[in-house]
Amino acid sequence: MKVGFIGLGIMGKPMAKNVLKHGYEVICFDFNQANIDEVVTAGAQAGASGKEVAEKAEVVITMLPNSPNVEAALFSENGISAGLSAGQTVIDMSSIAPQASQKFAKQLKKQAVEFLDAPVSGGEPKAIDGTIAVMVGGKQTVFDKYEELLKTMASSVMLVGDVGAGNITKLANQMIVAINIAAISEAYSLAKKANVSPEAVYQAIRSGLAGSTVMEQKSAKIFAGNWDPGFRIELHIKDLQNVLDTSHAVNVATPFSSLAMDVMQALKAHGHEQEDHAAIARFYEQINNISLQES
Ligand code: NAD
Repeated sequence: MKVGFIGLGIMGKPMAKNVLKHGYEVICFDFNQANIDEVVTAGAQAGASGKEVAEKAEVVITMLPNSPNVEAALFSENGISAGLSAGQTVIDMSSIAPQASQKFAKQLKKQAVEFLDAPVSGGEPKAIDGTIAVMVGGKQTVFDKYEELLKTMASSVMLVGDVGAGNITKLANQMIVAINIAAISEAYSLAKKANVSPEAVYQAIRSGLAGSTVMEQKSAKIFAGNWDPGFRIELHIKDLQNVLDTSHAVNVATPFSSLAMDVMQALKAHGHEQEDHAAIARFYEQINNISLQES
């Protein structure tokens, strides 16, 4: 099976390499030539446009920043839809607005093209290891056809509902992560101001009920003051905007997500949007005039 792969950034590049490693042919495209070159060196063919990729592949995977990027990749001149024909499938693995996934699925249906929204969780290290989690929205029959392909990149692949359900699940994930980083930062700030070592607090509670994957991955970064991304604040702002748009659309109150969004907006206003989302801790450091780094 020949697989098209469009969007070869932090996540897309290692994911495309894992598809190659499992014996699939890959034809790829990105706006960034250096990204294409790296995946071609790993064995892929280069496409000149989304259109060419779609003409030459059975299934086209996209891994792009947000809804407008996916829309442009699909429907602009020389975009994917211009090269698609009946019976093909597009699998969008970007984290985008669920409403946008549903709109794209409808548009592609006019060409008799199937669509899955299949966003991922796990970040760059798991994308490299091929152990990301994939949450999929779409038809069971289409999912069954491409489950093996998705498993080349992931340790967990799960169909959660119709088109859009994958991105609803991803938004739920992003709410939990943002609020969880804020919670550990707030707790460590209390400890610091009360003259108890935040690192001692972490060691004492990590195996109890408050322990979490977020606590494990982000505490070390907070204590080291290491804000290298990982997952950039600007991408998390994009996800929380999609959370708030969706929560307003379905009329659900999400107060802690709104607070987490305001914290991230404040960090952006101070120029921190390219930093890892662990830098939520910096907001607490600034308002409390403390440092959470061990001295
Ligand atoms: P990135 O910015 O590193 O990569 C995006 C790539 O898409 C870039 O190489 C860019 O040149 C390319 N691109 C943009 N528009 C294009 C177009 N129309 N045609 C061709 N190429 C185009 O982003 P990333 O970190 O790889 O994230 C991709 C998606 O995965 C986002 O939705 C993000 O929220 C999600 N995600 C990221 C992480 C992470 O830790 N970085 C983890 C889970 C999910």
